[in-house]
Amino acid sequence: KGSEPPTPPDDNINVVVRVRPLNKRENSLNDGMTLEFPGNGQILVTGLNDVPGMKGTKTKLFSYNVVFEPGATQEDVLQYSGITRLINMAVDGFSSTAFCYGQTGSGKTHTLTGPPHLFTGKKVDIYSEDHGLIFKSFLYLFKVLQEKKECHFILKASFLEIYNEKVIDLLNPGTARKPLAVRWSKKSQRFFVENLFLVDCEELDDLLAVLEEGMKNRAVGAHMMNEHSSRSHTILTVHITSEQQMENGVFITKQGKINFVDLAGSEMTKKTHSEGKTLEEANNINKSLMVLGYCIASLSDHKKKNGHIPYRDSKLTKLLADSLAGNGVTLMIACVSPARSNVTETLNTLRYASRAK
Ligand code: ADP
Ligand code: MG
Repeated sequence: KGSEPPTPPDDNINVVVRVRPLNKRENSLNDGMTLEFPGNGQILVTGLNDVPGMKGTKTKLFSYNVVFEPGATQEDVLQYSGITRLINMAVDGFSSTAFCYGQTGSGKTHTLTGPPHLFTGKKVDIYSEDHGLIFKSFLYLFKVLQEKKECHFILKASFLEIYNEKVIDLLNPGTARKPLAVRWSKKSQRFFVENLFLVDCEELDDLLAVLEEGMKNRAVGAHMMNEHSSRSHTILTVHITSEQQMENGVFITKQGKINFVDLAGSEMTKKTHSEGKTLEEANNINKSLMVLGYCIASLSDHKKKNGHIPYRDSKLTKLLADSLAGNGVTLMIACVSPARSNVTETLNTLRYASRAK
């Protein structure tokens, strides 16, 4: 680990990388590390000889706002990813998005929600150190709200899944998991999901219940369909309305929100040789991740910022458009495996992440 803590990023698009530890299987196979950490937000990829098209290249250096090395804790990610800034901004009326990108097994769900056992037991242990960014963000959010005594806050939350371009409400999936329609609202000038549950959350426990319920329903979907979770995107959104009475008696209302997005496995973007339904799925995932990457790259390129950005090309980007394009902040957490056997996917993820910067 580096000697001094990294400074939280402060641009409008922040890209951080989280490297998970080698797992048991990788350790027992003597797989070895393909990554080195020179410090200052840099990552050095070695072992490129095995990567198609990289013959003759020994190493490749990338740099990001922050790199979380395998020893980093969930608390480190809360403190140094810049997420607390997104939460403060949501309280102040801005719309922001935090998403995890990476191949299946790279630690996206671990980073956002923690290990699955936290949600499959009878009762969630709120004192566990292992809780992910969403849970820790909720705790942080309530601390911020309690300090702002001058404001009255109304919180609402939703939790949905996009599977094969179909939107399922994770808080109310119904027995048939009937998809909901995505429509354009002329009045608010944004896309919305028709009939999506918006749960009133007065207390911290209400937000935690939303997370718990959605995770449970996501697991049910995963059970019904093999490898479902690696092929679906989930979006948990917290809407924050604040009302404050000014000295002259006038009320000021602000509306902010924060999206937490767990993306489908990025390896799906290449699996287009499969057939039938899987091909359709792969194409849809392929498309949403490509469109998302393109939208973010366009946004981060100031010249293109006022040009055409293809939000309409996927459900995922339609639903994230207002916060990606707005005055909030986008935080991308690129999750990678350090194992030599995963070097091709790790390189793909690091490239995707550096295009977004
Ligand atoms: P993804 O959601 O990207 O498919 P997961 O979050 O499910 O990946 O992680 C795959 C496995 O690796 C899980 O068993 C998870 O608990 C473990 N894991 C991921 N990141 C870490 C980490 N930083 N520390 C310890 N275990 C991790
Ligand atoms: Mg996952």
